[in-house]
Formats: sequence, structure tokens, C-alpha cells
Amino acid sequence: MINFNQAHLTGKELEYIAQTAVENHKLCGNGEFTKKCQHFFETRYGFKKCLLTTSGTDALEMCAMLCNIQPGDEVIIPSYTFVSTALAFVREGAKIVFADSMQRNPNLDAESLESLITPRTKVIVPVHYAGIACDMDKIMAIAEKHNLLVVEDAAHSLDSYYQSPITNHQSPLGSIGHLAAFSFHETKNITAGGEGGLLVINDEQFIHRAEILWEKGTNRAEFFRGAVNKYGWVDKGSSFLPAEINAAFLWAQLENVDDIQAKRIQIWNRYYEAMKPLAEKGYFTMPDVPEYATNNGHMFYMVFENLEKRTAFMNYLKEQGIGAVFHYLSLHKSEYFKDKHDGRELPQSDRYTDCLVRLPLFYDLTDEDQTYIIDKIKAYYGV
Ligand SMILES: *Cc1c(COP(=O)(O)O)cnc(C)c1O
Repeated sequence: MINFNQAHLTGKELEYIAQTAVENHKLCGNGEFTKKCQHFFETRYGFKKCLLTTSGTDALEMCAMLCNIQPGDEVIIPSYTFVSTALAFVREGAKIVFADSMQRNPNLDAESLESLITPRTKVIVPVHYAGIACDMDKIMAIAEKHNLLVVEDAAHSLDSYYQSPITNHQSPLGSIGHLAAFSFHETKNITAGGEGGLLVINDEQFIHRAEILWEKGTNRAEFFRGAVNKYGWVDKGSSFLPAEINAAFLWAQLENVDDIQAKRIQIWNRYYEAMKPLAEKGYFTMPDVPEYATNNGHMFYMVFENLEKRTAFMNYLKEQGIGAVFHYLSLHKSEYFKDKHDGRELPQSDRYTDCLVRLPLFYDLTDEDQTYIIDKIKAYYGV
């Protein structure tokens, strides 16, 4: 069986974990490795301020808290995304307004955005699906016009970029919105030992409060900077910071990020080249990377014409021992949300729910295994 995903170890993870206890004598959060990881993101990608979190979900929860949602405030989120994107804002009492995806790829359709904005709209949450950028110039212009906050769900988006067609400037995903959230869950490009995340604060006005929310609603960070002479409870918050063990694990991955990215992109490109002739015959469509986006090798997906064709294809791969999987289920039709949805049809979101399938893609996928997968798919179409 070829798994859909498999965590990759770079080799230094256990050594660094041991170091947290033996040399640094520090296992709880916000130690040397946490600071090193945060500094890495701030310098490599120009993110203004970074805070490691225990998960991407936690980073999104911090974003929602920082947006200071009031009862009745509306947040626009694509329906085709992971539960956490919406859940983080639901927990703060926001009214979720689900947006449809684009025809060309599962990202939020910026063209439909303005029709969803009301006087109560407060936040837009673009999700860069498969690490492929949303149309950020358009989204940021609309946000600015209506005075809205933008939170990038960058869970898939490590080391991926948006190139502005207006200025030609390349911005790392996660650096464009006021706030952003990354995930280091084991299914993402790099992992913090299974679970982990990162809050990115690009708008300085949120930094002070973010540090407080991160440390259980206390002004501990100011205390350690010597800005106050005792620390105490000053706001809401939670235990959002991860243990040093997770940061140590993540550091071993960050040291190898270029190697990891190169390998994943190489696997992605090989799928792309191999599938191209089949896509050209119309059997399915492949990931669409707009001219303003880069590909970071997070995910290789195919979109079929309908559910029946996808099911048949997935069953075939399963028989061949290949772990291909579908992805999100439209959130506006979920058990939890269906009664709360305003009734609008979101046909693209439903199409991706029914028709999208992802192929195995992980660092340690061997050339032989990938050859096997490609050959089996070709055989399915008789070529
Ligand atoms: C993985 C993911 C999350 C949540 O991240 P966790 O680290 O698993 O909590 C949020 N949004 C999207 C789009 C994701 O893929």
C-alpha cells in the first residue's frame, strides 16, 4: 500500500528534542527553539511578528480573537475549506457568510466577494488552497474599500508566493493580510511533531494583544521585557503556545526547508507532466496555478466531471494499493451549519466536494512508487 501521506524526519528531530531538556533545561513553551523558529519566519518571509501555536486551528482562533468580533459581525469564508477556518470565528460569535470557490481552482472567488459584503461584514478569510495564492490584489482592494480585516488561512501555504500583476512584487503567502495562520500538522509540508501552527501578525496594532492572548491572558511578555514590574491577568486568552519539544522538532524541519520544498515540488511536477496528456484528453482537470501564484508542492489534485467518475477512479486506485483521497465537504451543507446557512447555492464548492481527488505526495515517496502510481493511472485510461 502506498499511503496518501507519511511524515518525514530530517534526522535532527530527536537530537534537538533531547537538547531542550539536557542543555536548555526547558521543556515548557517560549524557550530557545520557539524563539529560533519565530525568528526564522520573521527574517525569511518578512512577517512582522510570529508566534508559534499548538495548532493551525489555535492560530486561527487567535486571529478571530484579535479581530474582536462583536455579536452580529459577519465573516466571509469559503465553504470549501477545513472546519477550523470557520470554527475559529464561530467560537467568537461571528455570523459566517460562506463564499463559493472559483471555476478555475478551489480558492475563494474574489469576483463574488462584493455581493456578500454588508454593513456588518468585518473580516474576509481567504484560504490559499493547495498553497496556490488567492487573488490577493483584488481581495485586499475590496477589504480596503470597505474597511475590513483580512486573515489569510495559510495552512497549506508554506514557502509559496503571490506575485502582484500590478506591481510585479512577490509577497510570501501569509505576509499580505493583517493576520495569517499556518499549520504544521503532519499532513502539511513541514510538521512540529504531529501538531503545530504559527500566528503571523503583519499589522502592528495587533502585536501587543496577541502576546497577551498567547500567554493565557497575562502580560507576561511585557514583564520579561522589563516593561512592567509584575505580571497578571489582563485580557482573554488561552494556552496557545506549544511545548519546546514541538518547537525543537519544527526547527529540525525548518533547517531543511529548502530541501523539503524542492523534493515536494519535484514530485508535483512529475505528476503534472505525466497527467497532462490525460487532462488534455478531457479525463479530468489538473491544478490551475494562476499567473499571480506559485506552486509549493503541498498537494497534487485532479478534478473529475462528476462524483461517479471520481468514485470509480478512487476505487480503482484503492484496488491497486494507492492511497488517493478526496478532500473537504462544503461547510454550508455540514450537519452543524446547514440550518444556519442563508440558502444560497455554492455550486463550485459542491463540485470540488464531489469531484476532487488528491494523489500521494510526501517527501519520502520514492521514484519507483511514483512510477507505479503514474503507470496505474495511465493503464486505467488504456495508455
Ligand atoms: C490543516 C488546516 C487547518 C488546521 O490546522 P491544524 O494544525 O490541523 O489545526 C486549517 N485550515 C486549513 C485550510 C487546513 O488545511
